Amino acid sequence: AIPLVVAINTSLAARNGMLIRDRIAMEQARELDTIIFDKTGTLTKGEQGVVDVITVEDIDEDEVVSLAAAVEGDSEHMIAQAMRETAADRELQSPNAQNFEALKGRGVRATVDGETIHVGGPNLLTHLDTDVPSELTAFAERAGENAQTVIYLLRDERPIAAFALADVVRDESYHVVNALHELDIEVAMLTGDSEDVAHAVAADLGIDTVFAEVLPEDKDKKVTELQNQGKLVAMVGDGVNDAPALTRADIGIAIGSGTDVAVQSADIILVQNNPMDVVRLVKLSKASYRKMK
Ligand code: ADP
Ligand code: MG
Repeated sequence: AIPLVVAINTSLAARNGMLIRDRIAMEQARELDTIIFDKTGTLTKGEQGVVDVITVEDIDEDEVVSLAAAVEGDSEHMIAQAMRETAADRELQSPNAQNFEALKGRGVRATVDGETIHVGGPNLLTHLDTDVPSELTAFAERAGENAQTVIYLLRDERPIAAFALADVVRDESYHVVNALHELDIEVAMLTGDSEDVAHAVAADLGIDTVFAEVLPEDKDKKVTELQNQGKLVAMVGDGVNDAPALTRADIGIAIGSGTDVAVQSADIILVQNNPMDVVRLVKLSKASYRKMK
């Protein structure tokens, strides 16, 4: 549900799919120093696909894929969707899972046949303080070099398999970074994903600053870090995890259909899921407020 929207320059903004909830934010947009983008689903398509699987111990690929899909249950995370699609593509039956628990910014956990199964990223391994078999470490390094996200499956807290997931940078993202640089705006990226993946995507796009492996509860602190350098900062994101950072930013921008939480936390909502609208917004702000001076 989108709350009451106050629009300045209504027809122009609306024609560009921009809903302005805070006109001060729209006015400030012309003076932005830095724009921080959420990575997954904003700069990338967020349509992750499993491209590789490795198992250690005596368990085969299909078995870990069906386990992962079961444990991801009805999680809305894009990684969960990728796991379920992979299981479906392989026409696998998923076992029964119980006691689902989401571990925010880390992964998920559930019980299958009396065993605790975790599925999650590097943050999860750090959190559980578990040793990783060297085959899985080597697999993760290779995946990282290819900018693929690595997700581990743990049985009773022992890592027994890993998945490599590939996402695709959106064509528009290249134009966005170039256009913002032309406007003298610094571009940053904020993600819960690994350093490897984040830096590969950032290098590809020419992004200036990278914050990776950031837990959901710490995302707003990265905004503050930049603000403490005296910068006027906008944050662009779509997820529940992005809400505190959207609130903290001088200008919070929710993009796409977004989650309700992201939309409620934002000053400006970009209705179409197109990051180029961020550039249009800055240009519109510059054009509108120049005239009024
Ligand atoms: P993002 O910045 O990509 O939106 P999140 O905070 O949602 O990141 O997640 C951070 C990391 O936590 C992911 O890259 C992944 O490693 C792990 N993770 C989160 N949710 C899940 C899930 N449902 N299944 C597997 N891994 C997950
Ligand atoms: Mg996200």
